[in-house]
Amino acid sequence: MKPYLKRAWAEVSLAQLEKNVDVIRSLNSESTEIMAVVKADAYGHGDEHIVRCLAERCSVRYFAVSNLDEAIAVRGFAPKADILILGYTPPEYAHEIAMYNIIQGVVSADYALALTKNTPEPIRCHIKIDTGMGRIGLRHDTPQECADEIAAMMKIEKLSVEGIYTHFAVADSDDPDNIAYTDRQQRFITDTYDALADMGIKLPHLHFMNSAATCYRNSPRSTLSRAGIILYGLHPDISLDIPEGLAPVMEVKAVISQVKTVKKGACISYGRTFTADREMRIATVTVGYADGYSRLLSGRGEILVHGKRCKIVGRVCMDQLMIDVSEVPEAESGDIVVLIGRDGDDIITADELASVYGTIGYEVVCGISKRVPRIYID
Ligand SMILES: *Cc1c(COP(=O)(O)O)cnc(C)c1O
Repeated sequence: MKPYLKRAWAEVSLAQLEKNVDVIRSLNSESTEIMAVVKADAYGHGDEHIVRCLAERCSVRYFAVSNLDEAIAVRGFAPKADILILGYTPPEYAHEIAMYNIIQGVVSADYALALTKNTPEPIRCHIKIDTGMGRIGLRHDTPQECADEIAAMMKIEKLSVEGIYTHFAVADSDDPDNIAYTDRQQRFITDTYDALADMGIKLPHLHFMNSAATCYRNSPRSTLSRAGIILYGLHPDISLDIPEGLAPVMEVKAVISQVKTVKKGACISYGRTFTADREMRIATVTVGYADGYSRLLSGRGEILVHGKRCKIVGRVCMDQLMIDVSEVPEAESGDIVVLIGRDGDDIITADELASVYGTIGYEVVCGISKRVPRIYID
């Protein structure tokens, strides 16, 4: 392992990633393969090691990313993979899409024409249908109209259509109204696929499952399960349990740089938002918002020190923060503390941190900044 500065770092467990893949495979039918969603640097876990592990150790063949730069990077780590770009690629990059043998998500006939006009090579694509997310894709009132447009698009020269897909807006909810909404989204895309089949067009791929659908409404009709957040062991929605065996892949740690005892009345950190109401032991920790540990955790977050929860006191600074270690007499300079992960019997998850300041685990792990080295362990 390369040496790294023991200041603030993330430990990424490839063994746990493998276990999560096994769990996801056990949820899926035989007709469904995993499409590993590795956008945003594999949700902050580091795409190189994550993709290599998935491709080489777990035999994952399908990957999804958000853009061409990510796709080209993944191509370097997984030379034989099928890589789907979920987001927008400017048409002038059509040649790169073809050259790297990438599959582009196509959102309209106009876009397909623009892509194919810009390169002599065929463009592989999956056509995206907007069935209710309201973000990107073909929008139609009926599956038959949608199928008719797809059939017309398939006549576009050099456009190689390998599948259709859609994205669910509320598959991570157990509210009956939301379940009915997702049912309608799913029916629209499967009916579209079936209408195409009736017209003699049988596409290799039809996919609509994200992590939440993979967990809570797994369907053999989806040829791929586009698993993102559950690969990394986090919850699509904090209020719903995830299947047993899935566990977080990333832990984030830092170090105590100094411990001091302060008297009643002492102020801690910028803005003097915290004043000691008694004599206290305060530890300074080598992490701050520039590491992606949000300033919104000021006065609210907790950090594990020798397996005990210690509250953040005062504001989180750019590179440092202070915690109350009055109840942890053994805490001293040089000790490793856990911001995200397990320490003794206790655990702080990215999902928990997210709920403390009103976001989702996705944003917490994606937000761990480049300054924090990722260390890969088995
Ligand atoms: C990000 C994304 C996914 C993965 O979502 P998770 O909730 O992380 O599983 C799947 N499909 C599309 C289109 C996405 O943008």
